[in-house]
Amino acid sequence: MAPSAQGRQTVIVIGSGLAGLSAASAALRSSITDVVLLERAAKPGGNSIKASSGINGAPTRFQQQSSRDLAFFSDTVRSAGGRISQGEPNSARRKRLISLLTERSAAAVHFLADDIGVDLTVVAQLGGHTVPRTHRGAGKTPPGADIVSKLVAVLQKNNRFHLKTGCEVTKLLTRTSDTTTVVGVEYRFDNQLFSIAGPVVFATGGFAGDGDGMLARYRPDLASLPSTNEPRPGMHGLLTSAGAQVVDMDSVQVHPTGFVDPLAPNSHVKFLAAEMLRGEGGILLYKGKRFVNELGTREHVSSTIMGLEPSSGPSRQWDVQVLLDPGACVAAASHVAFYIWKGLLSRMKVSELDEATRETIREYSQAAAGKTSDVFGRVAFGHWVLAGGTEDNDKEVCVGWVTPVTHFTMGGVVINDKSEVMTSTLDANEETAIPGLWAAGEVTGGIHGDNRLGGSSLLECVVFGCIAGEQASAKAVVR
Ligand SMILES: Cc1cc2nc3c(=O)[nH]c(=O)nc-3n(C[C@H](O)[C@H](O)[C@H](O)COP(=O)(O)OP(=O)(O)OC[C@H]3O[C@@H](n4cnc5c(N)ncnc54)[C@H](O)[C@@H]3O)c2cc1C
Repeated sequence: MAPSAQGRQTVIVIGSGLAGLSAASAALRSSITDVVLLERAAKPGGNSIKASSGINGAPTRFQQQSSRDLAFFSDTVRSAGGRISQGEPNSARRKRLISLLTERSAAAVHFLADDIGVDLTVVAQLGGHTVPRTHRGAGKTPPGADIVSKLVAVLQKNNRFHLKTGCEVTKLLTRTSDTTTVVGVEYRFDNQLFSIAGPVVFATGGFAGDGDGMLARYRPDLASLPSTNEPRPGMHGLLTSAGAQVVDMDSVQVHPTGFVDPLAPNSHVKFLAAEMLRGEGGILLYKGKRFVNELGTREHVSSTIMGLEPSSGPSRQWDVQVLLDPGACVAAASHVAFYIWKGLLSRMKVSELDEATRETIREYSQAAAGKTSDVFGRVAFGHWVLAGGTEDNDKEVCVGWVTPVTHFTMGGVVINDKSEVMTSTLDANEETAIPGLWAAGEVTGGIHGDNRLGGSSLLECVVFGCIAGEQASAKAVVR
């Protein structure tokens, strides 16, 4: 590997989503490391910049009664489902990754808040979590955009950080004498090929937006669903060509609520109706009636919707409404204002709703007030304030149409607890890593099992991105 002009060593990071930015930040902690971050798009941020609900952490100083939040590990294991109840050593390796994710979660949130200056003071409870632990800011900027923009700004103050956009990595380079060791990458910029040498951190994201490619290969049944992800090809093939193993590739998260834009109802890429809309008190309706515990796991809520009659239009979608009462609207004010501005939510008085919906509100308000138990087993009602009587008639609710969308891919390349990319499967007796190659973020698999908890993807980007950056930087230095 060629040192940089000042005798420093170069770490190469591919992808400028939160995993890549976290890796870059960690690698730069060593004063003799330069970071070159290669990004295919014209601007940094990837899908990370779209994140709208927040990042998990426990126990953090922002949580109320944080000392009592000891359930993040068990919530994650439960959400991971059948994948994790398989036999050892598979299950032990998965649990090691989950331990790292959850044990380092508070540090990840505090790092973003204290070192990067991100406001993460608002904490909500998302589906599948037993307590509120998903952090976001109180201002108007959604958490993904806030985290990415502040992290990029901090990184760009460092003269050892070099962000190169418009650069698509096309190949991993290996040693001529030992083709199992990665020594750099080849990339295309402005229709010309270049190469760069150094340890490589791969942070190229998932494949939920790759409908005709990787989704069609691993989950053909979901390939035609709309998606929240940018339509771009998955990059896992570059890693498998270097010997990486993949895991859980058929575990694709369908998010229950992508907004159906009334002006473009059949558009393939949908805006996410953030899960916190339900966490703060929103309910889901089909023909005016609730049909599910809105705070069940994404898998449960999505599959319940997909068991309903689909809509009659050309796209594969369903006619479900999300409804927020005035309390939920206030608690989610910045999101609501944005969605109303985009034409995805509209305000209506309770008296203007159809009779089926008004009856649902009457019943649900009783459960939210603790007078009855909820028929679908919902026990957390967010900030719901409607009382269910005639006094509600002039109060305003927000309503929008939503449908399931492909959102996140749990599967990806196998990594170990050092974020090294593995040539061994999770089941192998011995672990073998590809020298010179680390990965973090959605391109990796095995951490979330069957179902990722909302808020845990941004978290995995920070936790494993930082591990990958540190490890790659240490390797660069000892070379
Ligand atoms: C609408 C939406 C809302 C979400 N909300 C949340 C949330 O609230 N909380 C949460 O935890 N998660 C959320 N997620 C999921 C989360 O945002 C992503 O899973 C996560 O940010 C992925 O980060 P990443 O760094 O792995 O990949 P990305 O952020 O997707 O970044 C990958 C980058 O790699 C680049 N790249 C790809 N291939 C190449 C190549 N060959 N050469 C160079 N560059 C390349 C891409 O252009 C991209 O910029 C949300 C996702 C979406 C789509």
